[in-house]
Amino acid sequence: MDSIASPFSTVERFVFRGRDFFIKRDELIDPLLSGNKYRKLYTLIRADTEQYNSIVSCGGMQSNAMLSIAALCRQKGWAFHYTSKPVPPRLKSLPTGNLKVALELGMQLHEVAAEDYPQLTRALKSQTDASTLFVPQGGADPLAQAGIEILAQEIRRWQLETGIENLHVVTPSGTGTTAFYLATSLPDAQLLTTATVGDTAYLLKQMQVLGAVPENLRILENAKKHHFAKPYAELLEIYNELKDAGITFDLIYGANMWFTLLQHIHAIDGPVLYVHSGGLIGNETMLDRYRHKSLC
Ligand SMILES: *Cc1c(COP(=O)(O)O)cnc(C)c1O
Repeated sequence: MDSIASPFSTVERFVFRGRDFFIKRDELIDPLLSGNKYRKLYTLIRADTEQYNSIVSCGGMQSNAMLSIAALCRQKGWAFHYTSKPVPPRLKSLPTGNLKVALELGMQLHEVAAEDYPQLTRALKSQTDASTLFVPQGGADPLAQAGIEILAQEIRRWQLETGIENLHVVTPSGTGTTAFYLATSLPDAQLLTTATVGDTAYLLKQMQVLGAVPENLRILENAKKHHFAKPYAELLEIYNELKDAGITFDLIYGANMWFTLLQHIHAIDGPVLYVHSGGLIGNETMLDRYRHKSLC
């Protein structure tokens, strides 16, 4: 526990809708490698540049993981090959948001037909050699554990300093990798999360790939079904309300987590520490889509 001289991010008090929260400001660590992607890629951030020549990954064309890996590869001088389904012509001629920045950072994009995507991305791992590292979609990999353990150490130390007990740690899930390892590393805390990609059953299945789901991890149900990365008036509303209260969260994961958390907050007995998961650069693209739908 003493291995960290100073934490990578601070914890701040945040009053929202009359209730006290604590926020672990992981979004402030680095503008590109922010939030849980910094933690998940920490082992690679610390790796020798000689260790790899290139990284291969796949996923959505506006993915936060994609942007973070692009930033990492730029820092290390590694090539970055990223496979996605076809990019819509409009976005291709005028990239925005995460895609724009990732391409500027030197990411090499490989588009494959949607029907070939599952098969081709499954084959990516076996095509790599010792100098090439394959990172699964969303960074869902045991590689993430070491960095998330450091996040957990920072939280434990903060708890020790403040004397806070009966802690509830909240963070949103995509692949569930962050929530899974954070719950594993904080056995004395309750880890609360919600599924933003698919439903709870799907999230559990994703987590089970990493191991047995820890008992202190609880997946909160969102009473309203939200499709991943789609604009919804109520998510924009909570994003704006949070922003007005002093902290900007991302419109995909963060807004959904807060929307769900507030549905359950009356039943949560004890202090809540929300771990900000970053992803703010992606807001540009989402706000464009909200404007398109005339929601803002
Ligand atoms: C990637 C991401 C998540 C999801 O993290 P998982 O470890 O895949 O569950 C949550 N929030 C933000 C902002 C992200 O970029």
